[in-house]
Amino acid sequence: GLFGEAYRRRHEITVTGDEVPPPLTSFETTGFPSEILKEVLNAGFSAPTPIQAQSWPIALQSRDIVAVAKTGSGKTLGYLIPGFIHLKRCCKDPRLGPTVLVLSPTRELATQIQVEAVKFGKSSRFSCTCLYGGAPKGPQLKELERGADIVVATPGRLNDILEMRRVSLSQVSYLVLDEADRMLDMGFEPQIRKIVKEVPARRQTLMYTATWPKEVRKIAADLLVNPVQVNIGNVD
Ligand code: ADP
Ligand code: MG
Repeated sequence: GLFGEAYRRRHEITVTGDEVPPPLTSFETTGFPSEILKEVLNAGFSAPTPIQAQSWPIALQSRDIVAVAKTGSGKTLGYLIPGFIHLKRCCKDPRLGPTVLVLSPTRELATQIQVEAVKFGKSSRFSCTCLYGGAPKGPQLKELERGADIVVATPGRLNDILEMRRVSLSQVSYLVLDEADRMLDMGFEPQIRKIVKEVPARRQTLMYTATWPKEVRKIAADLLVNPVQVNIGNVD
């Protein structure tokens, strides 16, 4: 409606896609389950950030998203909370493999995402495992064996573990490519493509990126289906 339009203008949000739902501009209007809402309010946040306000209703419709927004704009919860709600809807056995898979360029970023997933998913009792290089595989494999609803991984380490056949991605139905531009800059495109081949085609795919160059457009065109695009601010 008109209010949604005004909110988008005020926060420099542009959207491209069919019948894009209006932004959810307050936590109260999100309709999030109470255990998730509780964690958000506990964190002391007063309102959704623009990328959250606009990506939540799209993601909750189970649609693919490309979101272009700069660092520090709150993208992590932008995809994690709809991922939690997706998990609640699916109720799969985590011992068969993760339902939510987040790919992230570095160990540090992957760890931060896991911390956020644990914090905001605590009341919902989701399990989350983080896989990254530069550390022994043993403990990561042990954790995987216990079962994880959510796996946050760097493409290199996840690809190694896939080649060892120590994880199955056949249950993944919610796939996030976070900092896609950075993952491509770091040369992870071949690993990303190999990983995505192991994820069922029937899935929801969300791509978050700070910039929108040709290489990122290409991989978005290959991996996403009829995505809604959300840009915050000026996009180059
Ligand atoms: P990005 O991935 O876009 O760089 P993050 O998801 O890491 O951004 O979020 C940046 C910081 O903002 C984090 O410390 C996060 O906890 C905080 N944050 C997230 N959502 C909100 C919100 N709605 N209000 C205030 N702070 C928030
Ligand atoms: Mg981020």
